[in-house]
Amino acid sequence: MIPACQLNHADGCSRCPDTLVVTSFSHATRAEDLATMGRDAADLLVIGGGVTGAGIARDAAMRGLRTALIDKGDFGSGTSGRSSRLVHGGLRYLELGDWRLVFEASRERRTLLRIAPHLVWPRSFIFPVHAGARVPRWRLAAGLWLYDLLAAFRNVRAHRMLSKRRLRQAEPGLRDQGLRGGARYFDAQCDDSRLALANARDARRHGALVANYVRVDRFALSDGQVRGVHVTDTLGGATMSLRALSVVNATGPWSDGLRAQLGAAPALRRTKGAHVAVPRARLGNREAITITSPIDGRVMFLVPWGDLTYIGTTDTDTDDAPDEVGASADDVVYLLRSANAYYPDARLGPGDVRATWAGIRSLVGTSGAMGPSQVSREHRIVEDQGGLISVLGGKLTTYRSMAAETVDLVVRRLRAMDGRGEPPRASTDRDPLPGGEVSELDLLCHDLEREGVGQETAWHLVRSYGTEATAVVRLARTDPALGTPLAQGHPAIQAEVVHAIRREMAMTLGDLLIRRTHVFHEAERHGVPEALALVELAAVELGWSAARKAQELADYVRAAEQNLAFRSELASS
Ligand SMILES: Cc1cc2nc3c(=O)[nH]c(=O)nc-3n(C[C@H](O)[C@H](O)[C@H](O)COP(=O)(O)OP(=O)(O)OC[C@H]3O[C@@H](n4cnc5c(N)ncnc54)[C@H](O)[C@@H]3O)c2cc1C
Repeated sequence: MIPACQLNHADGCSRCPDTLVVTSFSHATRAEDLATMGRDAADLLVIGGGVTGAGIARDAAMRGLRTALIDKGDFGSGTSGRSSRLVHGGLRYLELGDWRLVFEASRERRTLLRIAPHLVWPRSFIFPVHAGARVPRWRLAAGLWLYDLLAAFRNVRAHRMLSKRRLRQAEPGLRDQGLRGGARYFDAQCDDSRLALANARDARRHGALVANYVRVDRFALSDGQVRGVHVTDTLGGATMSLRALSVVNATGPWSDGLRAQLGAAPALRRTKGAHVAVPRARLGNREAITITSPIDGRVMFLVPWGDLTYIGTTDTDTDDAPDEVGASADDVVYLLRSANAYYPDARLGPGDVRATWAGIRSLVGTSGAMGPSQVSREHRIVEDQGGLISVLGGKLTTYRSMAAETVDLVVRRLRAMDGRGEPPRASTDRDPLPGGEVSELDLLCHDLEREGVGQETAWHLVRSYGTEATAVVRLARTDPALGTPLAQGHPAIQAEVVHAIRREMAMTLGDLLIRRTHVFHEAERHGVPEALALVELAAVELGWSAARKAQELADYVRAAEQNLAFRSELASS
């Protein structure tokens, strides 16, 4: 029998659908919050709505600080929506001797699996070993034992070494020649941009003021101290000033740019990481595969994502502007050649790539003496002139603990400033993120299927929204058209557009199709053929003019063209 509701609070859950309340988080709340930000000084203003900034805002709001969070684009539109989507201890970091980071990341992996089971889920990895491999079998065995040890033997499951026969049974498509066996170990995979969004939404639920598409142009100084920022609403064009007792710069690869305004020297080395997504059937991998690239020996991953597998990542020093970064022809060739070496029958070529994404890592330290992959992924929190606090480097996996450490510093500063008492610590490691109240996703899925939702769509909805999937289905019941697919061959439904606008602050067509539903990276032709109809649906909700609709479509089509621009680069080379 399906158990009764596991929750005991007013918001309800999918097991008590009649009481489910998904709070509004929309263009309307954005306008309200911006007006309040312009009027009232905050204790803390966070610049950057990636996973770091959104996590800081959630933590601070939970501690009762008057908090404001802004991003010049959408939540998760920076690095946090362009990662390898792994919440992992970081097996690779063992080679760097970064045991402290592995320990912390393993603990955070456990926490995130618990507080956001819909957005962070266990993933098994096969690590094959071939003759002459850079990582021989004995070293892999020792490393994986240490990996489990640093997770206090509380990883999803303990690793197992595999004989050649077992490994071939698990992954029949892997190159047979020279195969010596390998191992299966466990980590977690996540929906990176929705994780950032979930933190931003929860920050508001705890009282933070939150707005996307608000860019910081410069700092407002008083007696040499940063006491606010001058911003532009990048959708409406209005400018305004926001006041705050403390300001945190959580702008990832953009951080040094803001710090430079205060005269701070650069602190970051930036490297590009690119991914390609190909139909999984072309490779035939059943699990995630960890490989060492035959080109340069770097550790890389082939990771299942629905009916796709994404291959990543590269790690090359870059001067590319974070706003412009994309996968180049060289990146794509490197990734495909590396994958083909392990799956020779796949013979992947540029035409197999459905989509690409690339982001910029912010690595602490500017020295180029070490190879990019040798630089630690540790973070650093620095206080610059004027009291600006910047969070540099780090990993998506450890965002929550980085956020807690940052807010500790903010609290110390505020206490020194006005003598206020110590606020209670935030329970960010215990309270579920929105939609994460129930961990039995298969039960949520069954509920939806019983209501007539197809299996694939039910799973997609539960994965994206957790307990809030019911709210999406309820929307679809108000209008049969909303129950129809967003894009051909993709499990998302049109109701998600309305949900994303009313409850997830989607402001552009890109927000809807790139980060809320992932149609852009998953559907054939990036869902461009369907975008024409979807823009009409979004326009009704957001009151777009004809000119705005045309602009949204043009922006989306351009993004789709740029996404596969490597093909013309290859053709002309
Ligand atoms: C290719 C790649 C793969 C990765 N894979 C993993 C992985 O699998 N697992 C893992 O744990 N980590 C991974 N990482 C690291 C992880 O993605 C980052 O540590 C994390 O996403 C950084 O988040 P952030 O919020 O600090 O930065 P970002 O996500 O970049 O957010 C910064 C935000 O600041 C905003 N901003 C910038 N300037 C301004 C301004 N002037 N005004 C207002 N807003 C502004 C931007 O719009 C942006 O949204 C990967 C990184 C890369 C590049």
